[in-house]
Amino acid sequence: MPVSPVLRLLLVAAGVLAILLAAVWFWLDAQFDEPGARRVPSIAGEVGARSVLAVFAHPDDEQSVTGLLIRAQTRDGAVTRMITATRGEAGTPLPQVSRPEELGIIRHAEVLKNGWALGLEEQEVWDYPDGGLSDADYEVYVGRLMERMQAWQPDMIVTFWPESGLSWHPDHRTAGRAATEAVQRLRELDPETAPRAIAYILAPRRMMGRFGGERGQHVVDNQPEPNLQMPGEGWAKVRGWQIHASQRDYLQHAYGIPTELLYALYDMEHYYVVEF
Ligand SMILES: [Zn+2]
Repeated sequence: MPVSPVLRLLLVAAGVLAILLAAVWFWLDAQFDEPGARRVPSIAGEVGARSVLAVFAHPDDEQSVTGLLIRAQTRDGAVTRMITATRGEAGTPLPQVSRPEELGIIRHAEVLKNGWALGLEEQEVWDYPDGGLSDADYEVYVGRLMERMQAWQPDMIVTFWPESGLSWHPDHRTAGRAATEAVQRLRELDPETAPRAIAYILAPRRMMGRFGGERGQHVVDNQPEPNLQMPGEGWAKVRGWQIHASQRDYLQHAYGIPTELLYALYDMEHYYVVEF
């Protein structure tokens, strides 16, 4: 049966559109790739960690490392814990789900719920001021982290790179610096019981440089090259943004694409892992 000229034109147009969409998809996907980092199924498994402690600044920071935390627990049988330094009371609610003065209480509860969903054995949320972690007494903060590390004996710490903090947030950089300092001091005290690895979560450089504006470029310029990457368990990140209901629309707001679509593209977590 002969194909009518109109139908043929429509088929050609649909084909061209499909090719264009595929090209855009592959280009976007490549923005999140770090081809130089070795792929492993699990960072905790790679390091042989039996106990992992995440040290972060805000409720929802753990969203960047869901793959590491979930696989450490479910695949490698490691115990996972987390310390969040602030209650995130200075964040912007997207959408607003509470009276503004109660945002800290809401976000405190949200991070506890997400920690439970991620299988954390224990977690603490401290009361440092959101946005003021770098002004807090650094020695006290480092001392508190050391005390928790001595009590919990993690093999591996996961935190932010101190020079770039994943997003350039000063609280992130302070958390990464203090966690690193705590590990270094414990290693001087007793290398047998101190953590023996730190996994620093890094931002995908091409995406950050192209779409992150001036701050993104600062992050790219101040990060090391990632040496390992692992699956990010995007489904858990999508779920986590539902749990962090006061931040649910944050990614869509910041990057203009739906959360599910973003994690279909951004499906690996990139780390700079230091072993002592
Ligand atoms: Zn944060």
